[in-house]
Amino acid sequence: MSTAFSLKKYGIDTEKIYRNSSVPVLYELGLRLEKGTAISDVGALMTYSGEKTGRSPKDKRIVRHPDSEKNIDWGSINMGLDEHTFMVNHERALDYLNTRDHLFVVDAFAGWDPNYRIKTRIVCTRAYHALFMQNMLIMPTKEELANFGEPDYVIFNAGQFPANRYTSEMTSKTSVDLNLERKEIVILGSEYAGEMKKGIFSVMNYLMPLQGVLPMHCSANVGEKDDVTILFGLSGTGKTTLSADPKRRLIGDDEHCWTEQGTFNIEGGCYAKAIDLTPENEPDIFNAIRFGTVLENVVYDKDSRKVDYTDTSITENTRASYPINFIDNVQIPCVAGHPENVIFLTCDAFGVLPPVSKLTPEQASYHFISGYTAKMAGTEMGITEPTPNFSACFGAAFMMWHPNKYAELLAEKIKTHKANAWLINTGWTGSGSRMKLKYTRAMVDAIHNHSFDNVEFVTDEAFGFQIPTSCPNVPSEVLIPRNTWEDKEKYEATKLKLIKLFNENFKKFEANTNPEIIAAGPKEGVAL
Ligand code: ATP
Ligand code: MN
Repeated sequence: MSTAFSLKKYGIDTEKIYRNSSVPVLYELGLRLEKGTAISDVGALMTYSGEKTGRSPKDKRIVRHPDSEKNIDWGSINMGLDEHTFMVNHERALDYLNTRDHLFVVDAFAGWDPNYRIKTRIVCTRAYHALFMQNMLIMPTKEELANFGEPDYVIFNAGQFPANRYTSEMTSKTSVDLNLERKEIVILGSEYAGEMKKGIFSVMNYLMPLQGVLPMHCSANVGEKDDVTILFGLSGTGKTTLSADPKRRLIGDDEHCWTEQGTFNIEGGCYAKAIDLTPENEPDIFNAIRFGTVLENVVYDKDSRKVDYTDTSITENTRASYPINFIDNVQIPCVAGHPENVIFLTCDAFGVLPPVSKLTPEQASYHFISGYTAKMAGTEMGITEPTPNFSACFGAAFMMWHPNKYAELLAEKIKTHKANAWLINTGWTGSGSRMKLKYTRAMVDAIHNHSFDNVEFVTDEAFGFQIPTSCPNVPSEVLIPRNTWEDKEKYEATKLKLIKLFNENFKKFEANTNPEIIAAGPKEGVAL
């Protein structure tokens, strides 16, 4: 009798199943069957995600159920779905999966700490999706796979097939539906692989606080003295870039948990932005692109198969996904102690936040709840207005509970473990250009080398944080924002504008936030 792996218990009869297949097998199937797939000059698999080249946050739904309903922070991010509609989409996904003559299954772990990890199963139709998730999750050993048993969560990725727009509650042909009671995620109408990765992160963001564990949208690394640093930040602020530091062992670039024992990475791989990638600026990431790496939506030369990382004609969100051990200096298993330094990254396109400053624990809570960053619409400062973005916990899109739940856990952990909190602005200065990566790296080095222990600090009267007046390998004039602005009046006006934006955004949190944290926010009526 055959004991071949089957998906029959889900109502999927497809017999040919590639489960945790080797990289060459996934390459061959991808190249043979998925339009546009090619091999780059260094051996990476170049794939295309179709119409969707980023996540679809407006199409994410969470099933309302009496068991979890009271715990979810419902609103424009966490939108509800009734159980029946979920089952309609679930059936639609299974019907589609059943039409395929083969399917891929990835059985793997999320979470490096055996005490907290969950077993996940991905059922998908594309070799690209399988290889992506094999890179991003923690792959079981042969023995672990043999004893894998039933998964805790299952993702049915039928992203090649659309949702039906006439199904009640469907607003588009894309739907990403999380059902916490069935422990399932259904994906329709998006082939963007990041939906699976962030789907699992959302699950962890729900489950971990139930055990007093803080899930975090941050990168993490550890130094020679086992000193751990975590770097929070919204997309594009530098989590992946700054955590890849040859002097320190990489724990992970995007999703971690802080437990009573220390920190662990949720993932087994990294997902780096590839836009404008150069070996000079980001050698570790550049060198991680090789056989086994998935390169998403990049443009390449037809003959040489060399990637043009400056070409954003498909999307600005070009990406490389690789297992963490493609970076030279890594912490395996990706588990470490309690963070000594907590860094909040922001990309302030207004050019008024200092490139590095030290925060009190209350200011840390304030900035964590605010989750500020901004985008520069054009390329040159002053020509177009920056767009501010406040996203609680530096990742509101993935948080399931009210931000206070995470903020209280962070405040308690920072206090217990006496962590230092810093704000680093990787964005603009008054001079009209983005802070040089070389300088930002030097500031992070200074934190790690304790170089700020004996320097003079000045207090920003409005924001209250402490700004160091010198930093090794950084010209002192870039440290104080006012000094980088020629037009001091414009600086003050812009700063006042940003302060008002912070205060306006924080209003919705005031009722439930303790007064010391509210008081740690910026002040409008002081010298700027
Ligand atoms: P995501 O959550 O989407 O993965 P991320 O926080 O990991 O985002 P990165 O992938 O590190 O963000 O992106 C930062 C981008 O900004 C990179 O392309 C990097 O080269 C660029 N950059 C330019 N200047 C700086 C700087 N001073 N510090 C950090 N990154 C910089
Ligand atoms: Mn990243």
